[in-house]
Amino acid sequence: MTERIYNFSAGPAVLPVPVLEQARDEMLSLPGVGMSVMEISHRSKTFDEIIAGAEGGMRELMGIPENYRVLFLQGGASLQFSMVPMNLLTDGASADYVITGSWGKKALKEAKKVGATNVAADLADSRYTRTPEPHELKLDGGAAYVHITSNETIEGVEWKDEPQVGDVPLVCDASSDIMSRPVDVSKYALIYAGAQKNLGPSGLTVVIIREDLPPRAPEGLPTMLDYRTHAENRSLYNTPNTWGIYILNLVCKWARERGGLEAIYKENQEKARLIYDAIDATDFYRGHAAPESRSLMNVTWRLPTEELEKQFVKEATAAKLDGLKGHRSVGGIRASIYNAFPREGCEALVSFMREFERKNG
Ligand SMILES: *Cc1c(COP(=O)(O)O)cnc(C)c1O
Repeated sequence: MTERIYNFSAGPAVLPVPVLEQARDEMLSLPGVGMSVMEISHRSKTFDEIIAGAEGGMRELMGIPENYRVLFLQGGASLQFSMVPMNLLTDGASADYVITGSWGKKALKEAKKVGATNVAADLADSRYTRTPEPHELKLDGGAAYVHITSNETIEGVEWKDEPQVGDVPLVCDASSDIMSRPVDVSKYALIYAGAQKNLGPSGLTVVIIREDLPPRAPEGLPTMLDYRTHAENRSLYNTPNTWGIYILNLVCKWARERGGLEAIYKENQEKARLIYDAIDATDFYRGHAAPESRSLMNVTWRLPTEELEKQFVKEATAAKLDGLKGHRSVGGIRASIYNAFPREGCEALVSFMREFERKNG
C-alpha cells in the first residue's frame, strides 16, 4: 500500500505531508552536507542551524517572550511529571494539582513521590467531562506552583482559558494541544509537551520555562534531571534527539506557511465542529465532554452499545479511517484531529458516521 489513509491516532500521530516529503528527500543527504541528519554531530554547524531554527520557529509561532528558555529534552511528557516537582517543589513547599483527567492523575502520582501536594480540584465526579469553574478551585496561595493539563487527550476535555492563579507559577502539560491555538505564554511559568501529537516524532519533549525557575532547583539533583543543565547548555549537554528536532523545525516552517497559530486555530475549530455537529445531530452518538469543555484535538463519544462501538471501529478501519478506538480506560470512540490532520478526513468521518447510523441506528 502506498496511498495514505486518514490517521486519527492519538499519538504518535499524523504529521504534515510536506514535512514527510522533505524529510524523505533529505534522508540520504541534507543539501550541501552529504549525510543524513541522523549521521551528523549534534555539535556541527549544520545541526546548530537546525536546533536554532526549531527554537526560533516555536518562539515566533507561540510568541515566546525573551525571558523564557526553550528546552529539547527526552523521556517524554511522562518524565516531566517527575522533573517538574524535583526542580520546583522545594523547601517543604506544596504544589497544587488540578485533575481534569487521566494525564493529570499521572502527573499527581509522580509529584506525590517528591513532596507535598494539594488537589485543588478533581473532576472525577463529573467523570472527567469538563474543566472546573473558578469557584471549584481550592487553590493554596502559597503553593510552589499550580499544575494543569490543558487538554486531556484520553477524555477529550480542554481548558478554554487558563485558571487565575495570581502570582503562583502556572505549570501546564500541553502535550496534546501545544501550538493548536494562540496562547499567552507569559501567563505560564512552564509549559511542557511530548512532541508526538502536534510537533513531531516521539522521543522529543519540549519544555518552555521562565528563566528564573531553573536557578531555583535544589542542589544535588541528578545532572540530567536538573533544568539548569539543559538551560545552561542550550539542550546540548548530551546528545539530544537530533532527528526529532530536525522534524520539529520542518513542522514549524509548515505551520508558518499555513499562516501561524491564528490560522491553524481557525482550521482546528472548523474541523472539530464538523464532528461535534455530527454527534449533536442525533441521539445515536453521545459526546463524552461537556460542550463548553470540548477538545478541538481529541473528539470523544459513545454509541448505544459496546458491540456497536466495536463494529464502528472495525468498519471505519476498513474504510481507511484508522485509529478511532477510544482509550481502553474510557472506551467508546476517539477521533484525534491534530494540526496536521486534514479537513477532508473529518468530512470523510462524518459521512461514515451518517451511513453507519443509517444502517445500524
Ligand atoms: C501523550 C500525553 C502524555 C504522555 O506523553 P509521553 O511523551 O508518552 O510521556 C502526557 N500528557 C498528555 C496530555 C498526553 O497527551
